[in-house]
Amino acid sequence: MRTSIATVSLSGSLTEKLTAASRAGFDGVEIFENDLLASPLTPEEIRARCADLGLSVDLYQPMRDIEAVPADEFARGLRRARHKFEVMRRLGADTVLVCSSVHPLAVDDDALAAYHLRQLADLAQEFGLRVAYEALAWGRHVSTYDHAWRIVEAADHPALGTCLDSFHILSRGSDPKGIEDIPGEKIFFLQLADAPLLAMDVLQWSRHYRCFPGQGGFDVAGLVRHVLRTGYDGPLSLEVFNDVFRQAEAGPTAVDAHRSLLVLQETVGVATPPAPVVPTGIAFAELVTPDAEPVSAVLGALGFARTARHRSKPVDLWQQGEARILVNTSGAARRDGTGLAAIGLESPDPTGAARRAEALLAPVLPRRRAPEDAPLDAVAAPDGTELFFCATQRNELPNWRADFTDVAHRAGTPGVHGIDHLALTQPWHHFDEATLFHRSVLGLHAQESVDVADPYGLMRSRAVTNADESVRIALSVGAAPTDDTVHAQHIALTTDDVVAAARRFRAAGGRLLPIPANYYDDLAARYEFPDGELETYRELGILYDRDAHGEFRHCYTVTVGRVFFELAQRDGYRGYGAQNAPVRLAAQHAGRPVR
Ligand code: MG
Ligand code: MG
Repeated sequence: MRTSIATVSLSGSLTEKLTAASRAGFDGVEIFENDLLASPLTPEEIRARCADLGLSVDLYQPMRDIEAVPADEFARGLRRARHKFEVMRRLGADTVLVCSSVHPLAVDDDALAAYHLRQLADLAQEFGLRVAYEALAWGRHVSTYDHAWRIVEAADHPALGTCLDSFHILSRGSDPKGIEDIPGEKIFFLQLADAPLLAMDVLQWSRHYRCFPGQGGFDVAGLVRHVLRTGYDGPLSLEVFNDVFRQAEAGPTAVDAHRSLLVLQETVGVATPPAPVVPTGIAFAELVTPDAEPVSAVLGALGFARTARHRSKPVDLWQQGEARILVNTSGAARRDGTGLAAIGLESPDPTGAARRAEALLAPVLPRRRAPEDAPLDAVAAPDGTELFFCATQRNELPNWRADFTDVAHRAGTPGVHGIDHLALTQPWHHFDEATLFHRSVLGLHAQESVDVADPYGLMRSRAVTNADESVRIALSVGAAPTDDTVHAQHIALTTDDVVAAARRFRAAGGRLLPIPANYYDDLAARYEFPDGELETYRELGILYDRDAHGEFRHCYTVTVGRVFFELAQRDGYRGYGAQNAPVRLAAQHAGRPVR
């Protein structure tokens, strides 16, 4: 189906918005009147710009307070309409959006509303245009889609139809099934937006919290299925008002927006991109660093051994059990210090995984390899993390591993046997996109979002996992741009005995994050522990949590650059220690050099 986006959904000047929409692959745009008013371009120039960019102008919007108002108001409304229709003709837009009236003098009179809309449609017809009437969820007398449709039906004019907006319908809890009673050719336009499920004033909710389909809590796909059953064949158009997107760069937002429509079309069965190939494990985590020494010291103290070196690049493989960490000191190392740059995902079909990612607009990365290296498919996640799809087969050397030459090392007593989870800090305006990306591109399942108190803000966190939880990625973001040495990424390592692992780490010179005594006093009041156990936790800085499935004991290393490690002992427990995260964040803030 054709895809479209309202210019109001993107940041920047009208020209920037149009360019971003076109680059992201949209077929058309809805031009928001304010964007036109603020543009130095004439309507003809905007039309030409759109044509050059391969965009149709699918809608001009909005027109307000037209219907069911006093006669003198209506006369003024028609005068405005005439001007707008002139502009639309110059712009090459054929449909105008009319929102249900919020005028204080508007009356509750459907016959008058229909009469006014019929006159407006008569005028539109003279210009060769169409009017799409939409019920605002907060319309003064018309606030539901079925009410708007009854008025359109009563007006009975070929140039008058209705516009359905998923936000207005779903935010009111209306049953979208009734959409099927509207003839498809009378649905002149379909606007789509999702939103988190919030209990708040619907106008504020709409103006600030709309998001792209699949990012919120509405069943947008379910609504679209009803619309498609009517025979509607207009565009799927995104109309999203969101404080964050208004500030974010238009280019990436447009790509995320278009991805949401591709996924939506797959969900409702009108598009079939390559099927998701769900990763089956974490092959490796890759750290980049300008200086291998501090990271190597921590890895060594954690019991890792440097087991292999890349044949052609300054990349070391550190391994312990099934936990594999690459330390990359090549020129690609970030200027901003040590960080988690890439994840190797075990994939039953790396090529298929990359094809899926590409179809859903993930940038495919040039293969970083020497001619003799194994070809490795990789794409970039929205936060820039490189995701490598690795063909790892049981009892066989995985493709990427063949590029490494073993080096002599002393095998220690492993205290760690795998990667429990990876925690990626998202740029503050890309959290919802990140979740949608990991869900749709990688086929992972997103768990509930949790809010975690941080001494200097609020952290949102959401885990994405595969079915057997052999891949767990925790995505998090602060409420505002913040010091990312605190909101660092982390690699959580699986251990069967966190006390022994922590002791060994300390004995080897490693530094654990100290946890305040108050935490343990409270823990003692909440749970009963065998004699001496709590004292051990207190001494080592081990945190404790429990859920319906089991127990969790974990501790943290101090941060190196932008990354720290967690030792995690999971005994049936399914969470990530969110209960303890505020204490951890406060301890990390406290341990930071004074500014
Ligand atoms: Mg709308
Ligand atoms: Mg963690």
